[in-house]
Amino acid sequence: MKINCFWFRRDLRLEDNAGLYEALKAGLPVLPVFIFDRDILDHLPHKDARVTFIHSVIHQLNEQLQALGSSIYVAYGRPYEIWDKIIQTFEVQTVITNRDYEPYALLRDSTIEKLLHNKGVAFKTFKDHLIFEKDEVLKQDGTPYTVFTPYSRTWKKMLDSKQVEVEGKTMSYYFQSYPIEKYVQHFYKTKTFPIPSLEDMGFEKTNIPIPSKEVKQGVIKQYDQMRNFPAINGTSRLGIHFRFGTISIRQKAQKAMQLNETFLNELIWREFYAMILAHFPHVVKNSFREKYDHIEWRNDEKDFQKWCEGKTGYPIVDAGMRELNTTGYMHNRVRMITASFLTKHLLIDWRWGEAYFAEKLLDFELASNNGGWQWAAGSGTDAAPYFRIFNPDAQQTKFDKDMRYIKTWVPEYGTPKYPKPMVEHKMARERCLATYKAGLEQA
Ligand SMILES: Cc1cc2nc3c(=O)[nH]c(=O)nc-3n(C[C@H](O)[C@H](O)[C@H](O)COP(=O)(O)OP(=O)(O)OC[C@H]3O[C@@H](n4cnc5c(N)ncnc54)[C@H](O)[C@@H]3O)c2cc1C
Repeated sequence: MKINCFWFRRDLRLEDNAGLYEALKAGLPVLPVFIFDRDILDHLPHKDARVTFIHSVIHQLNEQLQALGSSIYVAYGRPYEIWDKIIQTFEVQTVITNRDYEPYALLRDSTIEKLLHNKGVAFKTFKDHLIFEKDEVLKQDGTPYTVFTPYSRTWKKMLDSKQVEVEGKTMSYYFQSYPIEKYVQHFYKTKTFPIPSLEDMGFEKTNIPIPSKEVKQGVIKQYDQMRNFPAINGTSRLGIHFRFGTISIRQKAQKAMQLNETFLNELIWREFYAMILAHFPHVVKNSFREKYDHIEWRNDEKDFQKWCEGKTGYPIVDAGMRELNTTGYMHNRVRMITASFLTKHLLIDWRWGEAYFAEKLLDFELASNNGGWQWAAGSGTDAAPYFRIFNPDAQQTKFDKDMRYIKTWVPEYGTPKYPKPMVEHKMARERCLATYKAGLEQA
């Protein structure tokens, strides 16, 4: 029997999934596939909350599919070998998937596409992870934006540029949804496939709680007023769900438009950094602004260790790092403070901090993490100028005045057990200014 396959990657949901909709609409039975990719997993610690999360989501998807008489074909290995096996086992006409824009994913997909084409199987991709891809929001001269504000203005104009009628209502073409209800009978009928256990893949289950994908409307409504205070639950915590596609960006952006423009702007930051990574892939290893690669970092390993463990003697920095180490989350304001502290106060290469966040953050996203780190180091697109150095104490007074956040994460603060500041702010500031100046003059 001829079939099509739908390959799930960072779009782990049945609802409003563009590629899945197109696959089902095409008419042939659709076999859903998920690969636990060893090229990614082999580099992760054996206790990784994101792997635990994905694993449980795959089980949930399988249950939803079982209710429809189908199942998800789950494999553990390298995508090339797995696809080679799938097309030998099934008579596949087309493999359909949603586009993934990270450098590794682009390379993987072009290799798979070649393999499939050589065997006479088509490979079709769709847009689902973003509202606008890299070439959809460009300057008038056709070049990419490198500054957020004009990018976001054009982004919003683009949204209005194409309208459609849905159930009597006019809406942006880019917010269209992809309801599969009409086509669910097209899922490939099968008994349930086995799912490898976490242990089979060398992982251990973690107990880190995953933030809910249901956000209270009040949080989004008051987002602009509450989002800067780490002691308050004033942000959505949806990062992990955007990352793995357990929610639809189109649905959330539409809600954001109705409820809070500042929240919408944050979703646009996500697209901005994805666009920057796609147009300027050198940012993965190098500074966006080349001259910042001449800075002579101190890169003191003991200092780095203190920062990682939250033992710098600056309570707002320590609270952030301990929150990250315990929960896999850190509030955005505190991400900015801790990143600034590492790069400016300790003069440690932003790539060290970036890698640490990449290992720990539940919502780790290459483009946004890189963008955030380069912003803090001053080497990025809309960078804070290097002479603007966050004073951690002043930040704390402004954003955690009554120390609720600090008391939660640094209970020994104010007792003799708490360490003295590892560097003195004024000295660190002057050292940073001198080092940056020297590096930039050299360029
Ligand atoms: C040094 C540093 C590293 C960061 N690393 C990441 C990362 O790996 N993954 C990541 O998704 N975000 C990253 N951010 C951006 C931001 O801190 C997080 O998106 C946000 O804190 C996640 O919490 P939330 O889901 O409650 O976000 P909310 O404030 O509720 O925002 C909603 C969503 O908008 C997006 N968003 C918000 N702020 C930004 C931003 N500045 N840049 C890009 N997208 C944004 C995220 O998808 C987020 O989930 C980083 C920021 C800094 C300064």
